[in-house]
Amino acid sequence: MTSTSQRLAAIRGGVEPARHNARTIAALTGNPGCARRAVLDCAGVDKQRLAAYVDYPARFGQSQFAITRGNVFEAQVKANGCAELLGLLRDLLDLSVPEVSYDDLESVAGRESQDVRYSRAKALLTRAAAQADGAGTLFDHPLLRLEVAGQQAYLEPDLIAFQHDGLFHVVEIKSFAVIDGQADSGKVAAAATQAAVYVLAMREMLGEAGYDPDVVSHDVVLVCPRDFSNRPMAVRVDVRKQLAVVRRQLTRMTRVDALLAELPADLTFDLAPDDKGVPTRSPASLIAALEEVEARYSPECLASCELAYLCRHEARGCTAALGKAALEEMGGIDRVETALAIARDQRAPAADQHEAAELLRAAARLRAELISGVAG
Ligand code: SF4
Repeated sequence: MTSTSQRLAAIRGGVEPARHNARTIAALTGNPGCARRAVLDCAGVDKQRLAAYVDYPARFGQSQFAITRGNVFEAQVKANGCAELLGLLRDLLDLSVPEVSYDDLESVAGRESQDVRYSRAKALLTRAAAQADGAGTLFDHPLLRLEVAGQQAYLEPDLIAFQHDGLFHVVEIKSFAVIDGQADSGKVAAAATQAAVYVLAMREMLGEAGYDPDVVSHDVVLVCPRDFSNRPMAVRVDVRKQLAVVRRQLTRMTRVDALLAELPADLTFDLAPDDKGVPTRSPASLIAALEEVEARYSPECLASCELAYLCRHEARGCTAALGKAALEEMGGIDRVETALAIARDQRAPAADQHEAAELLRAAARLRAELISGVAG
């Protein structure tokens, strides 16, 4: 183990690392400036458990009902060697695919290590890219990996790679409905970003083997229930924009060893239990440890990070907690009370706050006019 891996293991404590998937990578790249999330995710800390233990439980994610419904839909689409999925792909991509094979790469002969699974996925997908005889068509759960903050992160896959004539398409099965040709735009955007993470990781895998990255198409296939039924439908989604964003954000992430160099050598979020199964660390000591790692809270965290309620509490009174738009307008003013004092002419703005001060005073005047108009 390298010293970086040893430090990350000590930060995590004596448990298996939490696994990455495209959702966690997409969320990580959504806030690339947050050192706290980068360190915890690179260490594989179970943020959900940590947040619950310090009494700021995460409040997002699918309900059990939605998870069950999604699993049923996915099983239906994949039944009989993905027969239904194949019909959709033939129509959507206008292909004649006379014979197909289906490989589920979720487990390798009982040996479950991520290295073994990754090597097997790479061998099979590389063979398919070379269009070797009997190389395969549908690959379910191929384990992928991406470099995140200087560390290789394995991606627990939630995709099928479909190969035809040496070109791959990422296929994602989602349980949100497409009604009259329209789906929830937020859900489609999230699915597109997650698919872009998979496209990028597949391109890197095949690129390492000497293939042109474009053998993985930027057109991904989203399979969702149609209208109010359980009948699946497939649509193409062009993820070039999302690919560029994910790539840029991953590049912007500070290497984790540089982040670790700024942190106390004995930092840990170990939740080691006592003989009754209760963590031996107090919540207060874990919060103190979290405060050692700089966070960069924004309201978007509420939909994507398990620690959002803790970080929001910590960021109370900071203009950053009001969101990116407000932060940009109030450049140079870090605290809400400073902004209010300037808006009320109770405090003179500093040299770099004049532009923001004009906006704040105009907003205060407008508010006063509205209130007096309503009162009059
Ligand atoms: S919730 Fe906290 S740890 Fe998570 S990304 Fe936001 S600021 Fe970072």
